[in-house]
Amino acid sequence: MTALMDLVTLSRELGKPERNLVIIGEGNTSLRIDAETFWVKASGYQLPSIDAQGFTQVRFAPILDLFEHPPATQTEQKARLRAACVDASAPMPSIETSFHAMLLDVCQVNCIAHTHPIAVNRLMCSEHAELLATRRIFPDEAVLCGPESVFVPYADPGLPLGFAIREGVRQYMATYAEAPKVVLLGNHGLITLGKNPTEAFNITLMVVKAAEILWGALAIGEVRFMSREDILHIYRRPDEIDRRQRFMEDGA
Ligand SMILES: [Zn+2]
Repeated sequence: MTALMDLVTLSRELGKPERNLVIIGEGNTSLRIDAETFWVKASGYQLPSIDAQGFTQVRFAPILDLFEHPPATQTEQKARLRAACVDASAPMPSIETSFHAMLLDVCQVNCIAHTHPIAVNRLMCSEHAELLATRRIFPDEAVLCGPESVFVPYADPGLPLGFAIREGVRQYMATYAEAPKVVLLGNHGLITLGKNPTEAFNITLMVVKAAEILWGALAIGEVRFMSREDILHIYRRPDEIDRRQRFMEDGA
């Protein structure tokens, strides 16, 4: 139950109104339980007030199978989502369960945090959206968020979005030979990937900070982006890798 409580804590932290990351039913989170199952936020629950009952234990295999054999109708999709739940009487998992399962599996991480931050979406809803994904503006952004983020143009929430994210993640992994830490969704929001809830939380805060700074820099004139060389250097520096590890081990 401890892992689930960590997920509850992460979700409530993300949901705090002063953070401006989500309102009402926005956002969802997930956490790997074991090789076969994971917790994911249930539909209709709100992050700020969620408790353990707001999460449903879901099996990976039937959700990943949706990508291999897509359902023909919404009714079939719903039935297969329901069938994937370990407890048939648990609340219905989020419509975004498919991308949670896929990212936990493909990227071999343990925790996913999906939010709609104002600072991020201000850029995601502009012609500058890709800049937040493909460029870096300060060293701690590169250290925590990776040399680049995956940018996914707008796709219909649910399985179409899951396919679009999978394509972007595959391209990223082909380039960098490691999983991304951030996925940015055009006209939609932010997904962060962590080894644990603390890492997913820290990366969320860092992307929001980068978005705030990029927005300000764009507003006052030409942005000075870091060079590729400087980004890769700081990202791979052994002492920075140590720092990244320690941030992850400290509580959120
Ligand atoms: Zn969303």
